[in-house]
Order: sequence, then C-alpha cells, then structure tokens
Amino acid sequence: SPLLEVRGLTASVKETGHQILAGVDLTIREGEIHAIMGKNGSGKSTLTKVLVGHPHYEVTGGTILFKGEDLVDMEPEERSLAGLFMSFQAPIEIPGVSNFDFLLMAVNARREKSDLPALGPLEFYSVVSSKVDALKMDPKFLDRNVNEGFSGGERKRNEILQLSVIGADLALLDEIDSGLDVDAIEDVAIAVNGLLTPQNSVLMITHYQRLLDLIKPSYVHIMENGKIIKTGDSSIATQINEGGFKSIALV
Ligand code: ADP
Ligand code: MG
Ligand code: MG
Repeated sequence: SPLLEVRGLTASVKETGHQILAGVDLTIREGEIHAIMGKNGSGKSTLTKVLVGHPHYEVTGGTILFKGEDLVDMEPEERSLAGLFMSFQAPIEIPGVSNFDFLLMAVNARREKSDLPALGPLEFYSVVSSKVDALKMDPKFLDRNVNEGFSGGERKRNEILQLSVIGADLALLDEIDSGLDVDAIEDVAIAVNGLLTPQNSVLMITHYQRLLDLIKPSYVHIMENGKIIKTGDSSIATQINEGGFKSIALV
C-alpha cells in the first residue's frame, strides 16, 4: 500500500464548524517528493495540520491511511511516533526546554518504541553536533530553549535540524523557504535532500520555484478552495512562476 493515502478528506475548524478541506485526494508512495502550490488561503497549511492531528480541526469525512493504518483516530504524538514529521509554517516555542533536551527526548521516545536502548547525552551529542555543523548552525542553539527568541530563518533551520536528527518516513514541510535568504535555502535543501532515501517521502508546500529547483518534486499539486484541483510534474511549477495560477489549465 502507499505510504499515505488520502481519500475524499473533508475537515472543518472545530470551534466554528467552518469547512476548509472540501474533499482532498492525495497518494504518496515511498521515495516520492510531492509539492503543493496554491493561492493564499486555499487550504494547504490546513491539510498538513489535519494530517498531523492539529486540535483546531475536525475531520468530517473521508479517510487518511498512513502505512495502511487509519490516522484519523490517532493522537498527534502517535502519528509522530509512526513516522510523520511536520515543520510548522510558524514553528512553536517551547519555553523551558532546551533544543538539546527536546531532540534527545524525541529520539529516545522513538528508540524505546523500537526496543532500542536510550542514548545518553554524551553519545547523543556527537550525533547531533554533526547535524548542527551540516546545517551551518551555531552549536549554541542546542542550549537555547526550543525556538525561543529565534529569528524566522533560525527557526526554519532548527525545524530541519529536528527532522535530520529525529528522521521521518513522511516529512511535511510547510513553507520551509519562507523567511530564509538564498544561502539558507540552499543549506536547508541540501539537508532535506540528504535525508531522502528510497523509503521516505516529502510533502512540501511552497510558493517558490527556487525551492523546487533544489528539491526536485516527483509531483506538483495545485490546491484551490480546499481541494487538489490539478496534479502534474514540475513543469506546472515553472508555468505558475511565469504566468501565475491563472495560466494553469484545469482540464
Ligand atoms: P494556505 O496555507 O493555503 O494559505 P490555510 O490552510 O492556512 O491556507 O487556510 C485556509 C483557509 O482556512 C483560510 O481562509 C483561513 O483563514 C482559514 N482557516 C484556517 N485555519 C483556521 C482556523 N483555525 N480558524 C478559522 N479559519 C481558519
Ligand atoms: Mg498562508
Ligand atoms: Mg499556509
């Protein structure tokens, strides 16, 4: 079965009942890179949040299968342990928890699930510091509280550090290029490409061709009004870049 299979997914804002996802179909197989593009407000971020079980949204119809298992009734933490990773468009701060401790906890929670012995701080430090170097981050980041006082670009790099250390079968990357300068986008793209194996997959949301030139998608989807209305190869992204969304023929 595919890694992720979404069928007829509808979802609403829990508090108001306002529907945002209006029947999303999406299939992601192992080793594939998918990109979602679409105008502001089309539901891209909501789709990724619903996939990870964000508490503000309620699934009202359809199915989400991840590795053949129904995700809808799983807690966000269980989804993450099952191998789903999400970088938030606006990553959250976790006061009082250092980056190092956060990463060590996350890694050990996964090791425990696989019946592997917990890593100690010293052992873990050598793993994590090589990733910090690869992302050209200041090692001092490890001692700082998660995302507290980070600049936009630092937060984005930190999300990719989390992904590189924790690993994932499917990484959902929501606008990882936003707020990054050109050099930082390149560092992040190199890190993401370095994580790709024939077994794991990426779903990225972006407005920019630049990111898609660096992380080459197998499929590009266009989202509008809570649905994926077109799927194609990376030439769709080039077309949007040159002529805007209106240049995409929907048939
Ligand atoms: P995109 O990521 O494509 O820009 P979003 O998924 O963030 O779009 O939002 C889709 C639409 O749903 C927008 O109109 C947004 O205002 C609305 N929306 C998303 N989340 C909420 C929420 N928690 N409460 C109310 N409206 C929301
Ligand atoms: Mg938006
Ligand atoms: Mg968004």
